[in-house]
Amino acid sequence: MTDDDITQKIDYATQLIQNAKNLVAFTGAGISTDSGIPDFRSNDSGLWKQVTVDPLEVASLYGFRRNPQAFYDWVKPLAHTIIHAKPNSAHIALAELEKQGILKSVITQNIDMLHTRAGNSTIYELHGHMRQTTCIRCYVVFDGVPILEQFLRDGLVPRCEHCGGVLKPNVILFGEQLPVRELRDSQDATKKCDAMLVIGSSLEVAPANQLPVIAKRNNAKLIIINLEETHLDHLADVVIHARAAQVLPQILAQLQDV
Ligand code: NAD
Repeated sequence: MTDDDITQKIDYATQLIQNAKNLVAFTGAGISTDSGIPDFRSNDSGLWKQVTVDPLEVASLYGFRRNPQAFYDWVKPLAHTIIHAKPNSAHIALAELEKQGILKSVITQNIDMLHTRAGNSTIYELHGHMRQTTCIRCYVVFDGVPILEQFLRDGLVPRCEHCGGVLKPNVILFGEQLPVRELRDSQDATKKCDAMLVIGSSLEVAPANQLPVIAKRNNAKLIIINLEETHLDHLADVVIHARAAQVLPQILAQLQDV
């Protein structure tokens, strides 16, 4: 995509957002790559392309219960990066859009908490987050970050101080149900929106990837901002193949110029 193409598409996306009364954002790992957190499926740098372990094994509920040490060893670099990551200009633009009353909510597949750190307040974390961790034996919930920090120091699988059970970060692994309330609220927000900004998602993960389809079915305008093509590009009113941290601040600036 040339710079001129991108500029034209940003103009059109801005127009769609200006006309919207209920804008919702749907984000994926790509919005956070400019904060230093690798995504899963980017062709050159995605975590799934680099690992020598089977993702479905280490990052599944079944795999976690069988061998939590393998999960923790795999998640260690990601946890380290997430704990230290800062929101980039794409997250900050979304927080500003919410502050200005333009953006109603963020539905995210990310577990990195960067929308919260950027200042958004209405966020549905469909795949969980790392701010809490739960004992898989007695279900007591603990603050996640100090427990991950301890794990990063000693490399030992975190255990419950009450019953000795293994602690699992509150992230949704393969084979787990999505959190019921977050899913319901995301679906409600999707049905109500008249424009959806899809940012940094390959749209490969179900059922989250159904949300843009539902939005479109309800006649919402669909704007996709993603470096690579997605299989839902054909549904979108505008598709911008560029970095989110480049595009979103430009949309915000144009909205402010009006
Ligand atoms: P994905 O890895 O499947 O797809 C990411 C997409 O973002 C790719 O298509 C890529 O082209 C695009 N992208 C990469 N950098 C970009 C940028 N700077 N600007 C715009 N687009 C960019 O990610 P997904 O669709 O979110 O789904 C995978 C799962 O990954 C989710 O369940 C999520 O929980 C998990 N995940 C989350 C994080 C995180 O929290 N930051 C990191 C890795 C994986």
